[in-house]
Amino acid sequence: MEQAFHAEFADTGILKIVFDTPNSRVNIFNETTGSQLNQLIEELKADPSIKAAFLMSGKGENFIAGADISGIQGISSPEDAYDKSRLGQQLFEKWRELRFPTLAAINGACVGGGLEWALAFSYRMATRNKITRLGLPEVKLGIIPGWGGTVRLPRLIGMKNSLKLILTGQLIDAEKAYKQCLIDEIVSPAVLEQSALTFLKTILRDGDRTILQRRRKNPARNGFLEKTRLGRSQVRKRAEKDVLKKSQGRYPAPLEALKSASFALDNNLHDALIFEAKKFADLAATTTCKNLIRVYQLTDFVKQGNATDGDIDSVNKIGIVGAGTMGTAIAEQAAKHGHVVRLRDESEAAVLRAFQQISHHLQQRVEKGRISKREAEDCIDQVSFTLDYSGFAKVDLAIETVPEEPILKSEILRKLDKCAQPNAILATNTQSLSVSELAAATGRPAQVVGFHFLNPFLKMPLVEIVRGKETSSETISVVYQLAKRWGRFPIIVEDRPGFLLNRLLSVYWREALEMMATGVPIENIEDAMQDFGMGIRLLELLDRIGFQTAEQIMSTVAASLGDRFPASSVLNTLLESGRERGFYPAKNGRKGAGSQRKIYKTLGVKPRRKVVDEEIQDRLIYAMINEAAYCLEEGIVQAPEAIDVAAVFGLGFPPFRGGLLHFADDRGADRIINRLRYFTNAFGEHFSPAPLLSDLATQKSTFYEYWIKSSRLKEDASPQE
Ligand code: NAD
Repeated sequence: MEQAFHAEFADTGILKIVFDTPNSRVNIFNETTGSQLNQLIEELKADPSIKAAFLMSGKGENFIAGADISGIQGISSPEDAYDKSRLGQQLFEKWRELRFPTLAAINGACVGGGLEWALAFSYRMATRNKITRLGLPEVKLGIIPGWGGTVRLPRLIGMKNSLKLILTGQLIDAEKAYKQCLIDEIVSPAVLEQSALTFLKTILRDGDRTILQRRRKNPARNGFLEKTRLGRSQVRKRAEKDVLKKSQGRYPAPLEALKSASFALDNNLHDALIFEAKKFADLAATTTCKNLIRVYQLTDFVKQGNATDGDIDSVNKIGIVGAGTMGTAIAEQAAKHGHVVRLRDESEAAVLRAFQQISHHLQQRVEKGRISKREAEDCIDQVSFTLDYSGFAKVDLAIETVPEEPILKSEILRKLDKCAQPNAILATNTQSLSVSELAAATGRPAQVVGFHFLNPFLKMPLVEIVRGKETSSETISVVYQLAKRWGRFPIIVEDRPGFLLNRLLSVYWREALEMMATGVPIENIEDAMQDFGMGIRLLELLDRIGFQTAEQIMSTVAASLGDRFPASSVLNTLLESGRERGFYPAKNGRKGAGSQRKIYKTLGVKPRRKVVDEEIQDRLIYAMINEAAYCLEEGIVQAPEAIDVAAVFGLGFPPFRGGLLHFADDRGADRIINRLRYFTNAFGEHFSPAPLLSDLATQKSTFYEYWIKSSRLKEDASPQE
């Protein structure tokens, strides 16, 4: 079997070990690498000539990515989880007990099980490199670090700092890790190996007093709050309050991690490790954990999509027309990723506002220590502003993001077509207009594509990439990869009204508004959905977007779906009476405080009808599932995963439920159909189950099973070469 570990002497008595998982992009721990490490430790123990050893990665940009996710996914019971946790802990304990000093020389991501191993080394050094990130992201998968992470990290860097990492899953760079004494030295990537060697030679010659002293003097480990049981219990209580507020009791992992880390500081190492393994075992086989892993895998689905066609490096210069909310955010994002950006608006005030906003955001990032002053200056220098089309001849990608008016958008695209070089891609940022129709204004429809970015841009990572009738696969591929590079979650959607996201949102809004119009209070609806776990209050979102825009989105969707989607008159009634917002009181002002009352008055209802949470949840979620079934059948997206990505990252669908269609599969088509029939009787024919959902119920199948089967059928039917 191919070996993952390769060892050779780099100098007399100093062994260099390289971790290089065969046939894998990154280094991971699985059964094979685990048992090979065990074997390596035995060999190291038996070799008296070794005086010290250091570990490097053979993967260039990745140190160790942690445990193999499918191994965690495959955990079948708490007993199985406990055994796996103990096995890893014992392996790393064996490593820690080696009789010579060891050093982890880290370049690239060192996360999860990777950092847990690094914590069992005598010393750690890491590179001053953007890609070097350290952390324990296990809580994001619904588990706690189970290989000693919650035990060793608090002992090394103190309770407060370790909780920041363990409870949020946040990753930190080498500078921060050095400040917190998580690493003992920080070096340039070019000299990592040489520095590791020098480091160990110094230790062998002079001992490690200076290093241990630095760790001991670490202010984060001293003081009343860290040193005393009473102080630590105060830190714990505060963290517990924070965790409960954030997780609303839905995500148990951070709370268990907190217990384990606290226990570790008050007990001996052996007991602390056992305690950690028990806490890990309580979580690893739960549905919440499996669902969170699924959501993690959804991000992999995004990463793997459309990786082949199209040359992403062909996009350097980007031109943007419309320096409003979206244009400014897109410009900032593009500049942050090194693009040269030309931002145009017809209004001088808009251009000035855009410049001020980008500068302000960069300044905030400098103040928070996320980027240096120099990086901020370089970033703003990447953006130039204009009131005309000068500079647009040289752009590789031009994005129009002017208001949602078809004539205006067509006109801008026509101008861009005239002035941009022939290879340039033209994109329209729209939430409801037909990309194919807009593309007709240009002479290059194959190079025209739609973006549907969301607002607030930074908080909402989803972006729909809209394929017009003539958009080429190369164009799609280039913008898809670009979106990924910008840290977005792109999904490709067909050019049908509402695309995917606004179709799902429209049915949700429709039902919520209709409930409101019968006297169900807004808070009753929103609280029920919060209780279901929704991360976004979607009526508040409607309020933020404004009734006018929401009405435009919903009526576009309604018109295209015909009788199947009866339009709601609620927003029109409100708009006709002059209300453009008001479900929620305006922030920091009295002006809006009374407007909710006025909304009910305009609708002629008294907000007193209490509906049980389950009815509200089923009505809104099942309406979306039904619409998603239509979307899948119509081929709006190419796979059920795309719908789950959209629901989680675009609509705030609770990650612990694994995605909209995964949740539907869990509930079962039968149960959903029964409930839809009940809603059909109560509220109308538009609740009739989609044909695909009925098929699933008849065949006792699920969305995901159906999808795999029908993809296989399509493959079998396609002509062989
Ligand atoms: P906005 O009103 O904030 O900005 C539009 C900008 O375009 C303004 O600065 C305006 O001066 C400029 N403009 C108008 N005509 C122009 C012209 N002929 N030449 C140059 N500039 C011109 O709008 P926004 O919210 O940024 O929306 C832009 C697009 O993004 C719309 O299509 C909208 O539907 C879509 N969108 C917006 C949101 C959102 O919540 N803001 C969300 C998703 C999609």
